[in-house]
Amino acid sequence: MIIRPKTRGFISLTAHPKGCEENVREQMEYAKKHKFQNAPKNVLVIGASTGYGLASRIALAFGGGANSIGVFFERPSDRDKPASAGKYNSVAFEKFASQAGLVAENVNGDAFSSEIKERVIDLVKSKLGKIDCVVYSLASPKRTDPFSGEVFKSVLKPIGATFTGKTVNVDRDEVHEVTIEPATAEEIKATEKVMGGEDWELWMQALHSEKLLARGTKTIAYSYIGPEVTWPIYTNGTIGAAKDDLMRARAAINFLLEDIGGQAIVSINKAVVTQASAAIPVVPLYMSILFKVMKEKGCHEGCIEQMTRLFGEKLYGQSPARSLDEQGRIRMDEFELSKDVQAAVREIWPKISTENLAELSDIAGYKREFLRLFGFGLNSVNYDEDVEI
Ligand code: NAD
Repeated sequence: MIIRPKTRGFISLTAHPKGCEENVREQMEYAKKHKFQNAPKNVLVIGASTGYGLASRIALAFGGGANSIGVFFERPSDRDKPASAGKYNSVAFEKFASQAGLVAENVNGDAFSSEIKERVIDLVKSKLGKIDCVVYSLASPKRTDPFSGEVFKSVLKPIGATFTGKTVNVDRDEVHEVTIEPATAEEIKATEKVMGGEDWELWMQALHSEKLLARGTKTIAYSYIGPEVTWPIYTNGTIGAAKDDLMRARAAINFLLEDIGGQAIVSINKAVVTQASAAIPVVPLYMSILFKVMKEKGCHEGCIEQMTRLFGEKLYGQSPARSLDEQGRIRMDEFELSKDVQAAVREIWPKISTENLAELSDIAGYKREFLRLFGFGLNSVNYDEDVEI
């Protein structure tokens, strides 16, 4: 069938299998040019099909030569409805990795469930033996507690006070004000249940108790801080509170892994366009301005640039340059939060309006990157051609 983009706000109803394959190929080619030594041999990536998780898997496989198991939750195709982009990305990854002689196993299902943890444990035993790196890169709107069966839904809201600020309607290229009421105590708790560190801990406990973690295993989860304009909705909001819980989980996992000399790490990554970040109010407008500034200064990065740098330089490079902050987190946001970049963003922020959006921000680049997430807008793909979904 012929597949065209069909988006509504931050949702895409279609995805292009060839475009997604090309996206994975381009990231693979980039990773191959940024090879690194001392890479882990067998990695588990939880949230492996899109965004930072996919780029982590690609960097580790094609930059470091690692075998991998990828866990994700993606929609398969159904009669005339294409699959979700993450499904096509994962099929493409498996194809390229096997061509390169690497083990690449995909598990499509709910990572929060005990059933998927058990399935992965069986796969590790049969395909990899032991793993030495676990990447935790989930972004999900909800979680069913595996013990109580209760369903928790995360919200993107401020805490303590109503927030009013600028945001962008990407369908209409319109800058407008948004007002968001503060979260209730129950919503704060629910967001922590979904996006906090509890499930990361459960994964590590399950793998550790089955003795599937090699000596010196590293496990890493991702977080974000950003600049002040996004704090009410991110760092000081419900999602930020959930991310604080990653630090509690990191300490608990470090304690758990002591006997095998393992280490849990939190990395603060740069703002990039993904399905998860596109859904956060204010952030897409901030990113459009940020990208313009960072591109002009020549320091713009996407997921694969960040992840090859994270694994190749900061975690596993020949002389790993850690640059940890005062809380012991790896900072991958050093260019985004550099003084000159943020000064330029701060100058634009109060002026930005619907009328000057195209001139003062890179909204066009933001929208292009958003469409690419679903395999659209790639020069190497003929979108008038019939494709098998
Ligand atoms: P994304 O939406 O691109 O990826 C989410 C992944 O989680 C996908 O692979 C999806 O299939 C998987 N997933 C969701 N629910 C699942 C479930 N129940 N079971 C199994 N898999 C499931 O998101 P992203 O932006 O790459 O985010 C990944 C992590 O990086 C998050 O922790 C996020 O907070 C963090 N982060 C993102 C940014 C950013 O700008 N995008 C910046 C810093 C940190």
